[in-house]
Amino acid sequence: MSVHIYPVKTGYVKIKKSQKIRKPGGMLRVLTDPEWTDWLPIYSWLIEHPEGIFIVDTGDTSRTTTDPHYFPGWHPYYRNSVKMDIRPEEEIGPQLKQMGIKSNDIHKVILTHFHTDHAGGLHHFNTSQVLVSGKDYKLARGLIGRLSGYLPHRWPKNFNPLPVIYVDEPIGPFKKSYPVTGAGDITIVPTPGHTPYHQSVIVKIDDLLYFLAGDTSYSQQILMDNQADGVSLNAGKTLATMQRIRELAELYPMVYLPSHDPESERRLTSKEVMKSISSIPKVEQQVMHQ
Ligand SMILES: [Zn+2]
Repeated sequence: MSVHIYPVKTGYVKIKKSQKIRKPGGMLRVLTDPEWTDWLPIYSWLIEHPEGIFIVDTGDTSRTTTDPHYFPGWHPYYRNSVKMDIRPEEEIGPQLKQMGIKSNDIHKVILTHFHTDHAGGLHHFNTSQVLVSGKDYKLARGLIGRLSGYLPHRWPKNFNPLPVIYVDEPIGPFKKSYPVTGAGDITIVPTPGHTPYHQSVIVKIDDLLYFLAGDTSYSQQILMDNQADGVSLNAGKTLATMQRIRELAELYPMVYLPSHDPESERRLTSKEVMKSISSIPKVEQQVMHQ
């Protein structure tokens, strides 16, 4: 049995343009920005593997769309800076059922971070082991987490995730990693920035790396253009992570798959690898940065 990655599109989200690409003012700018992006997909990923089925991120719940009291009403971000469009049948649980997969069949769930559009589907995996960034988990439950818009009160009551402890196993420019499978072909690497302890998943199939990027950037183009998002607390950290990802793609043929890039699914299916920055003609690079 070979390893295979399937996209699971769990509805759509709309954010402010200054969240997608940072403008001066950071988060304050996001809250006051009148300009919205198009509807962006919310991707989770299913990895079929000889050691079991793995899920990366859980999408969100349709309650974010149907229940006006699901988000905390006092929070300025939820009041006017994000819109969700998720139908009940688009949640990850019903979609897996459609694919003939029961939640008991899931070996492990990996969260890239705890934002609602990645953790809002956790209730579909009550019996699975959930691998998380321990520091992000701690942050999300504290006061700073609540102020930052995490929704720990919406997590399942019995939620008891396993914090990832990285080991000194470098993968290209990433000095530490966490092996998820015994075969060593699914690993987690720290990709701080979008959240302070964000993590990403690398899947090696044959000679290709698939980088399941969560929200390290909202699209591949943004990664190539080296632009931080508007919600990172520390844009420098975000850019350093993006640099590491580009360096990895210089070392190995790599398909880059952010959660909200409308092109991710096409790139996965066609195995479209990231272009080397050095192979892009200078003129084109200049245009990209305008
Ligand atoms: Zn996020």
